[in-house]
Amino acid sequence: MKNDIAVTDMTAADAGGSAAVHRLFYPVVSAVTMLIHFMYLVMFFSEGLYFMAGVNVFSVLIYLVGIVYISKSNKVITFMQTALLEIIVHAVLATLFAGWDYGFQMFLICMLPVPYMLSLKSKNLMHIISVSILMTFIILKLVCVSTDIKKELSADPTGWYIFNSFMSFVVIIVVTNNFMNKNLSLNLALAKQNADLQKAASTDSLTGLFNRRAMNEPFRIACSNENGYSVALLDIDYFKKINDTYGHDAGDMALVRISEIVMADSPSEACICRWGGEEILILLPGVSKKRAAETARKICTDVADENFEWEGKRFSITVTIGVSYSPKGVEKEQTIRMADNRLYKGKADGRNRIVVDDT
Ligand code: GH3
Ligand code: MG
Ligand code: MG
Repeated sequence: MKNDIAVTDMTAADAGGSAAVHRLFYPVVSAVTMLIHFMYLVMFFSEGLYFMAGVNVFSVLIYLVGIVYISKSNKVITFMQTALLEIIVHAVLATLFAGWDYGFQMFLICMLPVPYMLSLKSKNLMHIISVSILMTFIILKLVCVSTDIKKELSADPTGWYIFNSFMSFVVIIVVTNNFMNKNLSLNLALAKQNADLQKAASTDSLTGLFNRRAMNEPFRIACSNENGYSVALLDIDYFKKINDTYGHDAGDMALVRISEIVMADSPSEACICRWGGEEILILLPGVSKKRAAETARKICTDVADENFEWEGKRFSITVTIGVSYSPKGVEKEQTIRMADNRLYKGKADGRNRIVVDDT
């Protein structure tokens, strides 16, 4: 394909889609958590555990503020820090008031990976928080065993144990998924960055054509083409004069416009590069000399017919093109030298022409 670089790229749709999901993810998590806490609030209130009902009023408010806060500010880390603290405090208090059998301590287990999502500067701090949660779990068990604090709730513990375990597992699944998605976004961003770098390294910044270095691989492939390959080497005529008369910027503009004409006139299999200052090389894999000559002739005519204009002044430009063809296996140096010799023959013969043969 004409000057296409095969790179893994993240499409705008991918980027837009993941951004939209990211924007929605945390407000939805906050809303669901708020609803669950509201359920706990009702349960504790109906059981006469007014202190725990009060704690849940506080929790519901935190997640209500969380929905608005994240939707507006997108400060996800602050939200996660607050949620982590709230869940730990809530799990500890609920276990102390309801007892071990109700399974509120399960929420401590599912919080273990959360410190690693807080993007804390110190890796050790993340370990310390995680280990502290683990220690809290063990101490809580010892406290529950050594003191008879259960029987505060009249409800059957089995249903609550199952529900709390279920919710904890859901949290683990959500957290793991979040890790995976973050990893995926990072990989996509990295792939895009790689593609941009690869493109920048192989492209001429003025004309957008390939640079010389980028041609190594296309030439390697072209040399092994069963039908051989053609090369057309173009040089702008009297380009120094254009610069001297109209200025360097006018020269740049002309170079860009001529590159566009070359791109438009070349067949789809062409690989086009800025070979030197004002020289353009067109590599035509599997293209016969006849077709290459037709392409070169069209470019030559179209450039000569183009009206160049700079700061109100109109001028015309011509180009000279040397064309060569080599069968399969002939080294690129030989084919380029042949095209170069013909180009200079064209210059010597008066310019504004294509040269296909040595005679
Ligand atoms: P000829 O017909 O024999 O090719 O004459 P010429 O004037 O084109 O050849 P010469 O090699 O003497 O000059 C080439 C000029 O191209 C000199 C250089 O300043 C100019 N040039 C090279 N790269 C650029 C560029 O990126 N922008 C501009 N504006 N000019 C460039
Ligand atoms: Mg030149
Ligand atoms: Mg020139």
